[in-house]
Amino acid sequence: MAGPEEHQRRYRDLARMAEAELWRLWAADDIAFANIPGSSRDEFGAASPEPYSADIRISRQFEPSRDPAEYATPREQANLCATACTLAHEAVHLVTATLPTLEQELMCRHLQALFFQDLLTPRMYGSRLTGSPCTAQLTPSTPALENYIRDQQRRVQAMENNQMIDYIMGVRVYRGWLTADFIIRSRDWWGGPANRRPLTRGIYLNALAADERGRNEHGLILDLLSGFRTALEWQEARTVLVDLGPLRNALRTVGAGIQSRLGAIETAIGEQLH
Ligand SMILES: [Zn+2]
Repeated sequence: MAGPEEHQRRYRDLARMAEAELWRLWAADDIAFANIPGSSRDEFGAASPEPYSADIRISRQFEPSRDPAEYATPREQANLCATACTLAHEAVHLVTATLPTLEQELMCRHLQALFFQDLLTPRMYGSRLTGSPCTAQLTPSTPALENYIRDQQRRVQAMENNQMIDYIMGVRVYRGWLTADFIIRSRDWWGGPANRRPLTRGIYLNALAADERGRNEHGLILDLLSGFRTALEWQEARTVLVDLGPLRNALRTVGAGIQSRLGAIETAIGEQLH
């Protein structure tokens, strides 16, 4: 696991808590394979106590064979790996339930991506069910597993670029969980405003301009705007930043000290903002 000591400790603790939660749910028969409603390419599991019969549900596409004799085969081990990897994600939701949803999702995805990387190389263990030795490895043995691996690899790439938040913002449903408070609090995380993708910048600017506290964060707004290096990047942001009215309103009150900075930004993006 890479990153600062504090970060590593946090994720180790999180993994321990998630594992304990999974054993608790398993003992209570609260984990099941199910058809995940509205399942898209991005959804392989779900966690919520109500109104479902099980607290954690994993997509049936990874349900292994009922025959324990088949458990040791690479295909079933891969199905179990995808299941375990998804279980880890959903368990983190349950143990971080007091955090805002967007922050939960980031922690879930970071831990899942770390676990996924571990599962790409063979791991030996003894099956509790049959007593036989097994080799856990996530291999693309079925089309569903192939799809899963491709998706997880994109997430790993996002994590390594410090852009998991940008990856999440690319998915419409998660944008609904974004708050100006989160943007302000996380301003220096993941490489800061300089490392945000154009689309994320657009989403952030929208949310800040629409919020009473956010629209006074002129420094942050300008840092986000400075990241647009070309008019093309700005146009990408404009797909979500449809109405410039609120942003222009927010920038109306900038002090004389940053007027020139704003002017340079306007030249770069080819748009008048104040
Ligand atoms: Zn999630």
